[in-house]
Amino acid sequence: MNAEIIAVGSELLLGQITNTNAQYLSKQLAEIGVDVYVHTVVGDNEKRLAESLELASERADLVILTGGLGPTKDDLTKQTAAIFCGRTLVHDEAALESITSYFEKRNRPMSPNNRKQALVIEGSTVLTNHTGMAPGMYLETEKCKLVLMPGPPRELQPMFEMELKPKLLDGSGTAITSRVLRYFGIGESQLETDLEDLIDAQTNPTIAPLASHGEVKLRLTVKHTDANEAERLLDETERLIQDRVGEHFYGYGEIGLMEQLVIQLKKAGLTISAAESFTAGLFTSGLTAFKGTSAIFNGGISAYSAEVKENLLQVSKETIKQSGVVSEACAVEMASNVRKIMSADIGVSFTGVAGPDAQEGKDPGTVFIGIAGFDQQTVVFPIQLSGNRQAIRERAVKYSCFYLLNE
Ligand code: ATP
Ligand code: MG
Repeated sequence: MNAEIIAVGSELLLGQITNTNAQYLSKQLAEIGVDVYVHTVVGDNEKRLAESLELASERADLVILTGGLGPTKDDLTKQTAAIFCGRTLVHDEAALESITSYFEKRNRPMSPNNRKQALVIEGSTVLTNHTGMAPGMYLETEKCKLVLMPGPPRELQPMFEMELKPKLLDGSGTAITSRVLRYFGIGESQLETDLEDLIDAQTNPTIAPLASHGEVKLRLTVKHTDANEAERLLDETERLIQDRVGEHFYGYGEIGLMEQLVIQLKKAGLTISAAESFTAGLFTSGLTAFKGTSAIFNGGISAYSAEVKENLLQVSKETIKQSGVVSEACAVEMASNVRKIMSADIGVSFTGVAGPDAQEGKDPGTVFIGIAGFDQQTVVFPIQLSGNRQAIRERAVKYSCFYLLNE
């Protein structure tokens, strides 16, 4: 099957917004083996939209229109598409009901325009809008399969994933299974370089790197007709990947570093405490964002000044005098002392320079993370981070989670 995407909206032509819908759809369609041949962008103009639609329908098996499904005058996609396939617009009862109840719940009057949003092309299959009001549509015309979806990405993306994708796969006997592998401490470009030949050569499963918030994920997507075969193919590809970059791997799916740490601590029945200097509670705040943390966490100490490190955390005067607070020695004492003070199984410490100015002659981004375990050993990880204050603080917390998971 091949497809064309027509994005509708004068804002796109004026350069006010970027056509991320076409990018998203192309990527998603490629994953399920639909070749996208043409992207078109057309303004809110009935004549030019009709021409684009006509042309696309002659070339493609599947034509996807995005945008212009809203209630306002400039939203012309539905009526233009209806004229194109010689059908009328009818009210979809389910969509009308959800729109009506939306206004009733908010005690707001519903305008006739909003009723217009529930109009769909006669004989089309409605694609439910899970995050907004305008329903999408799927229909088979003489020339092509036609899809209409709303413009806002937060409406279009779930609609594609939940409503359209299963339809495109329907009847082919083919299903899609994905596995997400999560990595930390390796950049997206390094990961891509390390796996370049695999990424290029692999077609089933495909390997797609996704970077977000200093972490990198790899999404493996396999097309299959048998679930066991799919798992086998995914396992095989995962092994090839882990052989190369496994040292940076920490988990699967949607579970981030901190949540993974919480899960592991609970599983192991261990408690943790933190002494935080430049992160000043960022670690403990992140930890306690997850429910049920009381089983693994009694408390922590935010020890920003040298005095608090000395008086409350009992870091020795000599250490502070000889090595400074941003030092391996200080990180050791902070971690092991907080562990004792809080009667925890594990103590973790953060001392470093968040910047922008240097401290004790040490550059911004100089960070020491200490981990004190029950074997009375304390290990310190010295790292050099870059970025602004907040980035340095956040990355330090992520590094600590990664080290803790690997301990
Ligand atoms: P609404 O009901 O919100 O009016 P709609 O289906 O009529 O939705 P448009 O009016 O065309 O869609 O666009 C609404 C918003 O959706 C735009 O302002 C823009 O933020 C986003 N949008 C539309 N088209 C695209 C696109 N191709 N790529 C990314 N964002 C888009
Ligand atoms: Mg609109």
